Amino acid sequence: MSEEYDAIVIGSGPAGATVSGLLAKWGRRVLALEKEKFPRYHIGESLVPGCMPILEELGVASIVEASGATKKYGISFIWGEDPDPWSVDFDEICPHPYAFEVKRAEFDSLLLANSRTLGATVIEEAAVRDFVFEDGRCTGVRYTRGRSDTVTEARARFVIDASGQAKLLARRFGTVAWHDDLKNLAAWTYFQGGSRLEGRKAGNILVETLHPGWLWLIPFSDGSCSVGFVAPAEEYKATGLTPEEVLKSKIDEAALVKRLLKGAVEVAQVRTAKDWSYTGERMTAPGCLMTGDAAAFIDPLFSTGVMLAMRAATSAARAVNAILDRPEDEESIRQGYETSYREFLDVVLSFVRFFYDPSKKVIEYFEEARKLVDPDEALAARQDFVALISGLYGIEPIMEGVPPAPMAAVAD
Ligand SMILES: Cc1cc2nc3c(=O)[nH]c(=O)nc-3n(C[C@H](O)[C@H](O)[C@H](O)COP(=O)(O)OP(=O)(O)OC[C@H]3O[C@@H](n4cnc5c(N)ncnc54)[C@H](O)[C@@H]3O)c2cc1C
Repeated sequence: MSEEYDAIVIGSGPAGATVSGLLAKWGRRVLALEKEKFPRYHIGESLVPGCMPILEELGVASIVEASGATKKYGISFIWGEDPDPWSVDFDEICPHPYAFEVKRAEFDSLLLANSRTLGATVIEEAAVRDFVFEDGRCTGVRYTRGRSDTVTEARARFVIDASGQAKLLARRFGTVAWHDDLKNLAAWTYFQGGSRLEGRKAGNILVETLHPGWLWLIPFSDGSCSVGFVAPAEEYKATGLTPEEVLKSKIDEAALVKRLLKGAVEVAQVRTAKDWSYTGERMTAPGCLMTGDAAAFIDPLFSTGVMLAMRAATSAARAVNAILDRPEDEESIRQGYETSYREFLDVVLSFVRFFYDPSKKVIEYFEEARKLVDPDEALAARQDFVALISGLYGIEPIMEGVPPAPMAAVAD
C-alpha cells in the first residue's frame, strides 16, 4: 500500500512536532510517524526562552503556562574561579523573562497532540525502517506499526528526519561526525522534597561544577527535582564505580546541590545516557533533510537541546514550505538551511567548549560570549552571555543593533 503526502516527518519530539505542526498550519499535507506511544519518558527538561516564540507560533505557550510548569527566570551556577554561586536572569535582555522546567512526557505529548490539532496526520507506534530513494532522491519511507511486521510505504514530496539520537538518515549516509572532546556520560535520578534556591531563583536550573564534570538540579512544580552528573566517559570509568555510585558520590562532594537535597528522598532509578556531541557532515540531500538531534547534538551544559531542536525545526519548516512552492530552487534553499544551521551550532558549540574550563573568572565567560555574538559591542558583555545561553541570540528585536543569528536568515 502506498500513500502520498507533501511532507513526511520522522519522530514527534520537539523538533518533529514543531516541523509537522508548522507545515500543517500552513496548509501542507503532513504525515508524522512516531515510534513510541506517547506519553513517553524523555530527558531534556529545562527549557530556555528561545523556545518561547516557537511555542507561541504553535499556539501552545498559554497551555504550558496554564499547566503550572515551574517558571525558570534564569540560570544559577557554581562555576569559575570564584566558588560563590552566581546567577543570570533572562529579563536582563529578553522580552520572555522566563522559560519552563517541564516533564518531557507531558510537554512532548502536548506538542504531538497539537500537531494533530493543526492538521497533521500523526501515527504513534509507527517505526520508520527504511527510506525510499529513486534516482538519488528521497521520495518516501517504509514503516511498521506496533508489533506487526507488515511494511507500509508512504511517499511524499519531501522527507524530514527528526528521529532524535536515532539519527536515521545520518546513519544511513554514514555522516555522523563525533566531537572527540565532548564524549560524555550522564547519570541522573529524581528526588522528592529538599529545598530550593531563594525567591525568583527557586525555578532556576542549578549547574555546579565538579571538574571535569558537573551536576544539574532541575526543580519541578510537584516538589520533585531531577539531578544528574555529566562527565567524560573516561572519568566515570577511571573511578571503578558504577554510574549510580558516581552520581551519589558527586552529590555528596557538591556544595549547593547537596545542601538543597537535604531531607529529599530519591524516588527513581538512576538512568544513564551516552552524551556524546556530534554534528552531521551533511544535513540535507535531494528530497530530505535532518533537524534537531537527528542533525546534531550539543552537550547539555546550557540546556539548549530543545531550543536548538525547535529553532532548527522552524527553519526546516520554512525551508520545506519554500521548496514545496518553488521546487526549482530546492538545492539553494536546502543549502541555505544547512549553512545557517551549521553556523548557529558552531557558535553554541564553541561557547560550550570555552565554558567547560571552570578555572576562569565569570567576566571572561561573558567576554567570550560577546566575542562570539556581539563583536561590535552593542550590548554589555553580560547581556551577550544571557542572549547566547537563553537561545535568543539573533532573534530581533531582542538584540537590537546586533546582526541576526545565522539561523534567522533562512529563507521564508
Ligand atoms: C543527559 C542529557 C540532558 C539533557 N538536558 C537537557 C535540558 O535540560 N534541556 C534541553 O533543552 N535539552 C536537554 N537535553 C537535550 C534534549 O534531550 C534533546 O536535544 C531534545 O530532546 C531533542 O529533540 P528532538 O525532537 O530532536 O529529538 P527527541 O526528543 O529525541 O525526539 C525524537 C523522536 O523520534 C522518535 N523516533 C526515533 N526513531 C524513530 C523511528 N525509527 N521511527 C519513528 N520515530 C522515531 C523517538 O521515539 C522520539 O520521540 C539533554 C540531553 C541529554 C543526553
